Amino acid sequence: MRIETQCLHAGYEPKNGDPRVVPIVQSTTYVYDSTEEVAAVFDDPTKSLIYSRFGNPTVMAVEDKIAALEGGVGAMCTTSGQAATMMSILNICSAGDHVISTSEVYGGTINLFSHTLRKLGIQCSYIGHNATDEEIHAAFKSNTKAVFGETIANPALSVLDIERFAKIAHEHGVPLIVDNTFATPILCRPFEFGADIVIHSTSKYMDGHAVQIGGVIVDSGKFNWANGNFPDLTEPDETYHGLSYTKSYGEKAYIIKARMQLMRDFGTYPAAHSAFLLNLGLETLAVRMKQYCENALTVARFLESSDKIESVTYPGLESDPNYPLAQKYLKGSSGVISFVLKDGKQAAIRFMNALKLASNEVHVADIRTCVLHPASETHRQLSDEQLKEAGISGGMVRLSVGLENVEDILEDISQALNKA
Ligand SMILES: *Cc1c(COP(=O)(O)O)cnc(C)c1O
Repeated sequence: MRIETQCLHAGYEPKNGDPRVVPIVQSTTYVYDSTEEVAAVFDDPTKSLIYSRFGNPTVMAVEDKIAALEGGVGAMCTTSGQAATMMSILNICSAGDHVISTSEVYGGTINLFSHTLRKLGIQCSYIGHNATDEEIHAAFKSNTKAVFGETIANPALSVLDIERFAKIAHEHGVPLIVDNTFATPILCRPFEFGADIVIHSTSKYMDGHAVQIGGVIVDSGKFNWANGNFPDLTEPDETYHGLSYTKSYGEKAYIIKARMQLMRDFGTYPAAHSAFLLNLGLETLAVRMKQYCENALTVARFLESSDKIESVTYPGLESDPNYPLAQKYLKGSSGVISFVLKDGKQAAIRFMNALKLASNEVHVADIRTCVLHPASETHRQLSDEQLKEAGISGGMVRLSVGLENVEDILEDISQALNKA
């Protein structure tokens, strides 16, 4: 099946007389005929369903669909993108370990890596997307367990050179984990370029309609966990009578361990109803992504030609420094654009307040056009100095182009620019 077809059909194959649509299985638990059968499921929870804290048929249909879309061997949904990021790391790191992340990642990821994981004894070092190979190599330590980056960085909108980062990570015997939220598998499939694990905030384009928070981890099945760096995956797990994940589950070792240990213990598993809604979003993902990209490119070109705008960042514009990487890795640059108004902060605020169609909200990748003012909203805790370092100016606006008719979006932007 091609990806557009997978959006509709992967993950659920109804048999004779079954419901056409993935059913919502609203049950916390599953019944068995005998104690022996329940005991067998405890010994190996991959054999059957046991409890909806770490497995539910509705959620699992969506997991299989997302695994197919990314070209992976398995996936696990979580209650948020943050939970997916956290578990992608905790599945292979413990106190005393170290990870390398690109500095352009989502703000919530930076909080998690710099503060919360540090309290758990896991250190993180940051390197830029533009770091040289030598600089990336130099960031590795003997206890480094993973490299983390975003396909299209939120909010910097720079593109990760996935092949280059994957190659260097592999030379050090560790996986590359890619947050593919903004691209989605429709615009980029990181496994095809050497990434080992993909995570998403499904709250964004995958859901698409701003109705539920969620996340997912997808396993490529290609990383060799038995290279000596990951004893937690190869050595006996006492909580399952000494089974070894690599020996018992082969290429699915990472994703099955995430479910059997982390989901069992942390319990950040989505409800069946949330997965049902996510599935509706996924069914139209391919058509929506094409239209987001088309609308956003038209809007980005319009902004670039306006005399009220100082600069536009959108990797789909020929003038953007990330254009060559976007051409290599992306089938479109998503719907997110950032731009800077010439007259600074007050002009940006006047512009945003004058918008009629686009809504002012803390979200991105919604089906409706929305805007955000980083300097006074998401990044308001930063000093002027820190804002400068983060590349955020007072005149900057982040625009998430939606699926309205693009002429209506342009008219709205243009009338608001006149009042800015
Ligand atoms: C929103 C976002 C997250 C966090 O996801 P939540 O679902 O809000 O927890 C992680 N990464 C990126 C790139 C995001 O945009």
